[in-house]
Amino acid sequence: MRRIDLKKANVARSNTIRDINRQIVLNYVRERGPISRAEIAHETALQRSTISLIVEELRVEGLIEELSGESTGGRPPILLSLRTADAVAIGVDVGTNRTLVATSDLAGRVLQQEQFETSADSAVTTRNIIELSRKLIARNNGTIEGIGISLPGLVSAEGRELFVPTFEWRDLPLADDVSRATGLPVTIDNDANAAAHAELWFGRPEIREVRDFILVLVEGGVGTGIIFDGQVYRGENGAAGEFGHMTIGQGAPVACASGSRECWEAFASERSALARYRNLTNGHGSLEITFQDLIDLALGGDRAAEAALRETARYLGIGIANLIRGLAPEAVIVGGPIVRSWPIIADDIRTTVEATICRGLPSTRIIASTLGPEPTLMGALSLVLASKFSVSVV
Ligand SMILES: [Zn+2]
Repeated sequence: MRRIDLKKANVARSNTIRDINRQIVLNYVRERGPISRAEIAHETALQRSTISLIVEELRVEGLIEELSGESTGGRPPILLSLRTADAVAIGVDVGTNRTLVATSDLAGRVLQQEQFETSADSAVTTRNIIELSRKLIARNNGTIEGIGISLPGLVSAEGRELFVPTFEWRDLPLADDVSRATGLPVTIDNDANAAAHAELWFGRPEIREVRDFILVLVEGGVGTGIIFDGQVYRGENGAAGEFGHMTIGQGAPVACASGSRECWEAFASERSALARYRNLTNGHGSLEITFQDLIDLALGGDRAAEAALRETARYLGIGIANLIRGLAPEAVIVGGPIVRSWPIIADDIRTTVEATICRGLPSTRIIASTLGPEPTLMGALSLVLASKFSVSVV
């Protein structure tokens, strides 16, 4: 699903112009709302009468609503905003440890959330997803329009073929099973792709102007989602973006998901940071700590925890420098729980990238995701929500 390019808003001239104009108005309300009809007319060069017709249509469909603005003396202006009264989407974030199932409104705000421990037995996990989805659907009296699923593996473009290495799931008919059991359309994607998609649609305001960026998702592994010209670049059979397995060096502190100690994720994942911390403390009292604990320790001034995170950040920087050399994106966004340690790691990432990249290459911004601690859940939700705002012809 492609995000509309607002900069090209007044070049549309075709039979589908009505459709395109509708998406332009809807996306102005989504990104700039509360906004008045006059402001939209001013920015788009669409006629006021056209805008009024479209607004009426969008209002009847329940996508936008009117609010009263601040009065500056006379009658208060009428402003338009997204209608966010109902839960419209379910997002299912299948993680290697736990699976989150949540609802959100049209703006991507999470309203209800459930979770269960992910089982390596795909039948058990599928059954739990269906059960919780049905529960949330029933709780919302028919307002849910679709289900998005993100999972840590490869997903083909149609979502029919998937491969999750951690659980050795192959060609699991997850989308079909969930769709049949709930009666709702189901969209499924790789977790890093889904998170990049969420960043594109619901992320940082400055990303709205960016058409090419890479999201680096740091969790138990390292995944990347590539956004090229305002949409996810999937590659053949959805296999693009597996930079987590590019060769970075030898003798990483942990093995990657496929058992190698040479891959980027073996050097730059949460697991590698925890292994570094264990080495630095000689395993003393640290066997059971989680990655969240490690960040808490570092933020609290623990030297070893800080050193483990900073070393991990330098390896993140080496990989990011390679991505920048190969793809020259406008921005690289780092997402996942590691973002909470950004004040500690940002300098090490940036310094490593600058030291590694040859002079003369355009500088790429390296920024932290604002999607929060669950970017892949936002990714799952965005698979449903973006279909309301995207148009296939621009
Ligand atoms: Zn690997």
